[in-house]
Amino acid sequence: MAEPYPPIEPYEHGMLDVGDGNLVYWEVCGNPGGKPALVVHGGPGSGCGPSNRRYFDPERFRVVLFDQRGCGRSTPHASDPATDMTVNTTDHLIADMERLRENLGIERWLLYGGSWGSTLILAYAERYPQRVSQILVLGVTMTRRSEIDWLYRGVGRFFPEEWEQFRAGVPEAERDKDLVSAYAQLPATGANTSRAAVVHARTLEMLERIGVSKRLAGLGIQARQFSIRDGDRELVPVRFDRLPTEYPYTLMVPQNITEQVLLDRLEELGGRVHRPYVATGVSQTADGAEVALDSGDMIKAQYVVAADGMNSTIRDLAAEVIWGSRFRIHERVADQYRAGRVLLAGDAAHTHSPAGGQGMNLGLRDAVTLGDALSVALREGREDKLDEYAAGSRAEAMRVVALAHRLTRLATAPPAVRPLRNVALRLLAHVPAFRRRLAEQLSAIGHR
Ligand SMILES: Cc1cc2nc3c(=O)[nH]c(=O)nc-3n(C[C@H](O)[C@H](O)[C@H](O)COP(=O)(O)OP(=O)(O)OC[C@H]3O[C@@H](n4cnc5c(N)ncnc54)[C@H](O)[C@@H]3O)c2cc1C
Repeated sequence: MAEPYPPIEPYEHGMLDVGDGNLVYWEVCGNPGGKPALVVHGGPGSGCGPSNRRYFDPERFRVVLFDQRGCGRSTPHASDPATDMTVNTTDHLIADMERLRENLGIERWLLYGGSWGSTLILAYAERYPQRVSQILVLGVTMTRRSEIDWLYRGVGRFFPEEWEQFRAGVPEAERDKDLVSAYAQLPATGANTSRAAVVHARTLEMLERIGVSKRLAGLGIQARQFSIRDGDRELVPVRFDRLPTEYPYTLMVPQNITEQVLLDRLEELGGRVHRPYVATGVSQTADGAEVALDSGDMIKAQYVVAADGMNSTIRDLAAEVIWGSRFRIHERVADQYRAGRVLLAGDAAHTHSPAGGQGMNLGLRDAVTLGDALSVALREGREDKLDEYAAGSRAEAMRVVALAHRLTRLATAPPAVRPLRNVALRLLAHVPAFRRRLAEQLSAIGHR
């Protein structure tokens, strides 16, 4: 097979506003006067990388690359649960390609791509044949039923372990049925499969308090090493197996399984979750609080914990404005975790990018600490324990948000800066103290 052309940097790039709040990342490399060629990536969901620039002779082609709506560097990312996926369809992607073509002043272009990219190319060419000079497709897929069955069931026999993990992501009753539909149903049932994929060492240590760590550890894959990468290249290996803990690994386990284990434990201890109810109001008195539900019912309690996620209703309704410090979009920590009888925990108290897999871990640690504080407050009237929780957990959240921010900036560095970033990271990777500190921060062992 022919060698790809040498690495090349784009001579221009940008974010194209394609409507519906979406910005699509694009870049152009090669010869500005050359024959226009568009690289359509597969995945779906992956995005383009530097290797995709090297398929074309840079002397002869003006090579355009883009990250499809919701993918790669395009925003908002499809993996963000807040992203509206009803405006991410094949029709939308075709329209985005047309908008990009017009924006770059290209009359006709050659289309190149494989896998899902080939499906999209063919759909685009059917819609706009006059805009296509040639088509070059590889690993052709038509997204037919038989292909979907092969991809999401057939290959399971070659990767039995991964297949079991994949099946475990949907409710047991669905595992021998249509997994694609079962996954599509998950958002409607409130399950969180596609989100947190790891539970870190410090979280497992803390979950010992409620007796679930061993159970959880048995249900996931124990990854003793992790790496910061750029595509296929490892930049910094991070060793968890040297951490001073009973859990010297990061546990890979889907969020819905973690949630199920917690729910089972709650029920074993005599607790119950009541669903579906929507909290619509909260009011406080000197010795308690009342939460109004959409059913018309009212719940009275001594304390209310707002653990209702990033768009928390209870937090916003609590008497004081406690959702304050906004650093960037989706990066926030509440100014106070306590407003009288209302306490915040989880994403209601802090949100940040998923980089480093920290959000749920931090929320679980909030919950364990708050559980202890509440039991002392209820038993002994020690409200100072609640303030201790509020201050301590907020301080931890500030550290975690700062870490996720740094990791996100590293991951999304502009193409021109990446070679420098990679060199710096590779150099730092040789410093044992740097690697140890990173492992401690990611696992939160450093927050003990
Ligand atoms: C792509 C992605 C990857 C991630 N990966 C990781 C990872 O690897 N590791 C990690 O630790 N974290 C990760 N996270 C973050 C993690 O998923 C969240 O931090 C976690 O789900 C937050 O849990 P929570 O219970 O606080 O909020 P949520 O999971 O949002 O749950 C809030 C609950 O409250 C309910 N609710 C909301 N409003 C009301 C109301 N008014 N009345 C009643 N109920 C209400 C909702 O229905 C929901 O069930 C990731 C996030 C994303 C987006």
